[in-house]
Amino acid sequence: MKTQTIIRLQNVHFSYNAIPVLEDISLSIRQTDFLGIIGPNGGGKTTLLKLILGLLEPTQGEIRVFGQSPRKMRHLIGYMPQLFVFDFSFPISVMEVALMGRLSRNKLGRRFSKSDHQIAYEALKKVGMESLRDRDIGELSGGQRQRVFIARALAMQPRVLLLDEPVASVDPQWQKQFFELLHQLNNELAIVLVTHDVSVLASQIDQLACVNRKLFYHGSTREGIHKISELYHCPMEIAVHEVPHRLLGDHHHD
Ligand code: ADP
Repeated sequence: MKTQTIIRLQNVHFSYNAIPVLEDISLSIRQTDFLGIIGPNGGGKTTLLKLILGLLEPTQGEIRVFGQSPRKMRHLIGYMPQLFVFDFSFPISVMEVALMGRLSRNKLGRRFSKSDHQIAYEALKKVGMESLRDRDIGELSGGQRQRVFIARALAMQPRVLLLDEPVASVDPQWQKQFFELLHQLNNELAIVLVTHDVSVLASQIDQLACVNRKLFYHGSTREGIHKISELYHCPMEIAVHEVPHRLLGDHHHD
């Protein structure tokens, strides 16, 4: 049950105004997966997430989320968007941000129930932010904000967590803790993390999908790194401790 495929894309194509952005993508994600989707800027990663969320429809091919259309199953997918889109000068508390995760479950205009508050509080606890619940989001550091937005996604009680470019807004000190948190959450949820910066990913994530219009690779990170370097279609700023010399031709460590 735990290793069941929960998201399946079959020969998915997508175009914006007849311009192809994704071509023939087939990909399966299982309940236990921690998958990194990498690729250069403009390679179609965000579009892929939007397709999985049912915000866009494939031009061709099929997407199934828990065996149903993505739109129907959207409530099972927690989404952490790129954080620069938020106006952090807007006065809203940490708890209120977490409660936003309960909005989809509430009819418009209904007040949050006691159980919504409890679930949002538990979500903040999972990311270690419950003690700051009354603070304004604008007063927090980048890493703290990110945890709060993860809590917002967790408050939906999702089975999958999608994170769009989370590493970009995180300082290196927080990165280690950030991945520890994600690995902990991965005991309960599938995690899909999108990034163009693979420097951290390579040592933190064991499954990679490399997307640059097409899917160039889907499998283990260790093998993928060689594949990526051969294909040269994905970014090359990879610095995995064990294998940097294989990627940078002018380094000879042995
Ligand atoms: P990534 O997340 O990998 O940076 P995106 O999925 O955002 O890539 O974008 C893929 C391509 O689609 C880019 O060339 C981008 O300019 C284009 N694109 C993205 N959104 C739109 C849109 N709403 N309308 C037209 N083109 C778009």
